[in-house]
Amino acid sequence: MSGLKETVIELANAFGPSGFEAEVREVFRKMVADCAEITHDNLGSIIAAHQGKATAPKILLAAHLDEVGLMVRGITPGGYLKAVPLGSWWPPSLLAQRMLIRSKKGDYTGVIGAKPPHYLKAEERDRSLKLTDLYIDVGARSHDEAAALGIEAGDPVVPAVKAEPLGIEGNLLGKAFDDRAGCAAIVQVLRELDNSHPNRVFGAGTVQEENGLKGAATVAAVVAPDLCLVLEGAPADDFPDAGSIIQGKLGGGPQIRFFDPTLIANRALVRLAIATAREMGIPYQLAVREGGGTDGKEIQQFAAGVPTVVIGIPVRYAHSHHCIMNLNDLEAAVKLVLGLIKVLDQETVDRLKSNPW
Ligand SMILES: [Zn+2]
Repeated sequence: MSGLKETVIELANAFGPSGFEAEVREVFRKMVADCAEITHDNLGSIIAAHQGKATAPKILLAAHLDEVGLMVRGITPGGYLKAVPLGSWWPPSLLAQRMLIRSKKGDYTGVIGAKPPHYLKAEERDRSLKLTDLYIDVGARSHDEAAALGIEAGDPVVPAVKAEPLGIEGNLLGKAFDDRAGCAAIVQVLRELDNSHPNRVFGAGTVQEENGLKGAATVAAVVAPDLCLVLEGAPADDFPDAGSIIQGKLGGGPQIRFFDPTLIANRALVRLAIATAREMGIPYQLAVREGGGTDGKEIQQFAAGVPTVVIGIPVRYAHSHHCIMNLNDLEAAVKLVLGLIKVLDQETVDRLKSNPW
């Protein structure tokens, strides 16, 4: 699928922690500007509409623009930056990692520091690291030196990582594949659609998913969708010693998520997605997740309810600096969504609404 790799890399490299999605939104906008009609909600989400043969039903494709990041809370007298999380981090994954701080004067690199091992007491070594143990070090030796870089409370911070291909064909290493993989899938779907689909498609990049699914709620209010497919860079579960049930294997195809603690998918829609994948010869993985949640939680509950299913692209080490994803999974997700859009006419969507089981 031409341009898909470049698309996901450009989206992943863009700066966009929760609440600061302007740059990634602009990348998304440029990518779909000539194939869709663009609108926004009032929080910063972008909605790209593509008209098919009918104005209804309205099919919402949702992916979140934001990535997990930090926000500067203040500068210590010694010139170190303390920060609060934008989204959820496992603190040990932050230690010794490079960060990019965006101040009013420009972008600066820092590294996450903590008390060095040489100075740790025995009991400190055994206890788990908390975010409050960590700080960002931009190399400053005083408050004024850091402040001279324009850094102040409220500045956003993201992992300083640029995506790159790995030696294994099709695999990419980079930040923010949760959920720039989903954004890339939507961009590609909008590019590939002709106007023969029996519905109106809305490809949305939502804001502040990692901060409580805020854009999902407002985008649903703007679009008032009849049905929703959430495209998510979902955590892979094929790590060593993962146990006997693997539902998110890298390269195993998109995950059709039946359940997570925030969303029980419309079962008839899950069945339709499986049937579509089988008919098209697309590999897929059915996922019943013990944890996690997505924009689907908010969108499903909009107004009288919206049949919703999450389609996941497996991402190893989501919510860390260095994630791994596979381009074949992304391409298969695009094909599955295109296949579903083709069959989601008014009659089919009405049937899914009236009999979700
Ligand atoms: Zn996500």
